[in-house]
Amino acid sequence: MTIPMVDLKSQYLQLKDEIDAGILDALEKTQFILGPNVAAFEEEAAAYLGAKHAVAVASGTDALHLALAAAGIGPGDEVITSPFTFIATAEAICYVGATPVFVDVEPGSFNIDPALIEAAITPRTKAILPVHLFGQPADLAAISALCGKHNLLLIEDCAQSFGAELAGRMTGTIGAAGCFSFFPSKNLGCYGDGGMVTAASAELAERVRVLRNHGSKVRYHHSVIGYNSRLDEIQAVILRAKLKRIAVYNEERRRVAHLYSELLALPGLTPPVEDGKGVHVYHQYTLLTDARERIMAALTEAGIASAIYYPIPLHRQDVFAETYRNVRLPVAEGVASRCMSLPIFPEMTDEQVRRVAAVVRGAL
Ligand SMILES: *Cc1c(COP(=O)(O)O)cnc(C)c1O
Repeated sequence: MTIPMVDLKSQYLQLKDEIDAGILDALEKTQFILGPNVAAFEEEAAAYLGAKHAVAVASGTDALHLALAAAGIGPGDEVITSPFTFIATAEAICYVGATPVFVDVEPGSFNIDPALIEAAITPRTKAILPVHLFGQPADLAAISALCGKHNLLLIEDCAQSFGAELAGRMTGTIGAAGCFSFFPSKNLGCYGDGGMVTAASAELAERVRVLRNHGSKVRYHHSVIGYNSRLDEIQAVILRAKLKRIAVYNEERRRVAHLYSELLALPGLTPPVEDGKGVHVYHQYTLLTDARERIMAALTEAGIASAIYYPIPLHRQDVFAETYRNVRLPVAEGVASRCMSLPIFPEMTDEQVRRVAAVVRGAL
């Protein structure tokens, strides 16, 4: 039996009756664009998260792009973000013509280090865009304080953190906007691309709503240049079914992670650190080791998937290397050279976790 990084098939089989019926119903109703399931999902997701407003869009990348655009960030502006994330976080900043300013991460949480942010703030800084990486909330108490002090917007990249909490509030409800991805493998994932922006103010939400639909509030009346970025009605059916179970899914991810950490407390391995500031929802289970190649080879040999999230920090990517050639971010660079991620998904059995852990121990 092979063990994949994520098992979307077994989750689908559990939800098959509900999802299939919902899709057939949507096909019958033929309201494919901005239909009733999209509207219902926005309401249900906002209620679950405790967000004032939620606007569904076509992807997590678009959520970031439209949130930044709606916030009025543009050419000449700087946005402080993490170098240890998926490229989309920085791409969105570039789409609006602004410049990403990378600030190093904490070695334990892998999230942007609030202690290093202030030194990176300039008169051009407009926003801080922390990423709740691998499902662990970034230190928004410290980051919000900096935003208040310097009059900056806080925009959260919640692509990996649906349902993660910080002091009783869910990620995506603390800053001016939260940007979610529903890529299939995310904690809340659909069966294609999807995303969502949560917003604290009705004005920001309305601007995202207009931007996602060709700059139009009233059909064929266009007030700004917008985009075609709507969540698909059929994807909304799938998301509504999974949203009902997201608390259990996240609980199960935590079960898997905690069992891994118990079994992998070994010299030569640093299991992921829960910094105790929030509730980690383990989008990924990522550890640090100098024996990455050996462990990954042994896992492959045993039919067990593993992955490196992420092998190259953003300031060292080809696309950015020239621009940031004098930038040194030693923690991100070190973590990228030593990190590896093990399979984790809600349906993973304790027995599967024990098998993975046994192979990792054997390789050490
Ligand atoms: C997945 C992801 C995105 C982009 O989401 P898409 O839905 O794939 O466009 C952005 N930021 C982070 C941190 C992600 O993990």
